[in-house]
Amino acid sequence: MKVLIVEDEPKLAGFVKKGLEEQAWEVDVAYDGQMGSSLALSNPYDVIILDVNLPKVNGFQLATLLRNENIRTPILMLTALGTLGDKLAGFDAGADDYLVKPFEFQELIVRLRALQKRSSESGSVSNLLKIADLELDLNERVARRDGNRIELTAKEFGLLEYFMRNRGRVVSRVDIAEKVWDIHFDTGTNTIDVYVNFLRKKIDRDFPQKLIHTVVGMGYIMKDS
Ligand code: CA
Repeated sequence: MKVLIVEDEPKLAGFVKKGLEEQAWEVDVAYDGQMGSSLALSNPYDVIILDVNLPKVNGFQLATLLRNENIRTPILMLTALGTLGDKLAGFDAGADDYLVKPFEFQELIVRLRALQKRSSESGSVSNLLKIADLELDLNERVARRDGNRIELTAKEFGLLEYFMRNRGRVVSRVDIAEKVWDIHFDTGTNTIDVYVNFLRKKIDRDFPQKLIHTVVGMGYIMKDS
């Protein structure tokens, strides 16, 4: 089980992390909402523990943002704000459960287990990456654009996954070679460009909105505008 804790109080974050690691869970910690969002968008977590009062992006905003990005990972809000209004705001934003501080650690474990169980029973779609009308299902290993299935080779799949996880960020050919091929290409080779062109033919050519863009002298960027 892989858990993301978004919590700006280092002491509490450390305590929860340590406790969960004792349950043999894998734990990442983000100390503000922005870091939380970039981790949650780029890693498949089983559960996210989310504080509400956070620097940069608060917990309600972050939950809303993740749901808008089609991240369905169960969210447990962990907060000192315990009024009914706060809870409703949390559920509205997309939280699945709510635990008020201070809490018993055992109760946290029970709630997390319940969330994880519920999500695995309902066939978790937390492994779905999405940009515009393009979807990449990491469980089924299938891409769809505008609902139409697109057949990809294993390399094309890996390349597309890398682009989608780094959407909005320029990635160089060297980055791609290292992260997708796991080797250090001679930067003179055009292998990367050849594969990017294969991928473009499949996911962009027949659509007015292009998602993979060339950044001259730097590499490529995947974005929807
Ligand atoms: Ca806080």
